[in-house]
Amino acid sequence: MTKSTPTLAIIVPCYNESAVLPLSVKELMHRLKALVAGSRVAANSFICLVDDGSSDNTWTLIKEFALAEPCIKGLKLSSNFGHQNALLAGLFTQVGAADCLLTIDADLQDDVDVIETMVEKYAAGAKIIYGVRKSRQSDSFWKRQSAQFFYRLLRFLKVKTVYNHADFRLADRTVIEGLQRFNEVNLFLRGIFPLMGYRSEVVHYSRAPRQLGETKYPFRKMASFAWQGVTSFNTSLLRLVTWMGIGMFILSLLIAFWVLIAYLSGNTIAGWTSMLLIITLFSGINMICLGLIGEYVGKIFLEVKQRPRFLIEEETPKL
Ligand code: UDP
Ligand code: MG
Repeated sequence: MTKSTPTLAIIVPCYNESAVLPLSVKELMHRLKALVAGSRVAANSFICLVDDGSSDNTWTLIKEFALAEPCIKGLKLSSNFGHQNALLAGLFTQVGAADCLLTIDADLQDDVDVIETMVEKYAAGAKIIYGVRKSRQSDSFWKRQSAQFFYRLLRFLKVKTVYNHADFRLADRTVIEGLQRFNEVNLFLRGIFPLMGYRSEVVHYSRAPRQLGETKYPFRKMASFAWQGVTSFNTSLLRLVTWMGIGMFILSLLIAFWVLIAYLSGNTIAGWTSMLLIITLFSGINMICLGLIGEYVGKIFLEVKQRPRFLIEEETPKL
């Protein structure tokens, strides 16, 4: 059963965010205190600021906040592990201290006002609540187009994702405990959460432009993250090579047919027929072989991941 006043942990990954952090902490504290005052969440709810190896004075700021406010915790990673790992660090270290955990970016792009709606949906029984942005108006034309292409590509490759959802989400502690059993090094949280199942809900919000500081996701990092999403999730891409191989092979048979006809009707120069036959046939076969090897590499890849085979949402009766 979901508690009526759960302990909420708000996990905030921070990488060189000293410009915006004072503002975001103020906003988050304000929302958290309102939730506590309204008895929506327990009084021991807290904010956990994860410093992802910042090179500016983010950590000094976090320590100051933590000293001044009992509801703020700080966590410092030893180096820059990246957004996804910073989220994990926060979630995994705090899962024992909270009933539900919210992840939100430090730059106030995600609407802090919908946290209340998320908590409401959680109280109503949902285990994962995804924050989904209504539009991409606040993004540059380029970011909007590339993001849309990315989500379409993921859908084509059968990676389950929630369209336009980034890492703004609330999850029950059982979900996070489940997540702990995914031993993936190449982590793509946006794909893992929908894969886990559980009762989920969606909350729409408009994403504001970054309040202060600049993006920590320049194009290079964003592209590498997108590639991670495509290649670390399943073996659809390898399967595609096999299909291309089969396609090439069929094409080569058609070409062979045409080449033979040309040969028999005498419209060829010496050597052309055999050359073309060999090239097309062999490239088709090559491609199939590559795809086959890919299939096996893919199997090993999935095995090495050692994903859990099942997760338990609830037990009844409770032992
Ligand atoms: N972030 C992080 N480690 C990194 C890069 C980013 O913890 O290596 C954090 C960053 O501080 C922010 C969040 O991840 O809280 C999202 O980053 P950002 O807002 O720069 O990305 P964008 O919204 O531009 O895609
Ligand atoms: Mg941002």
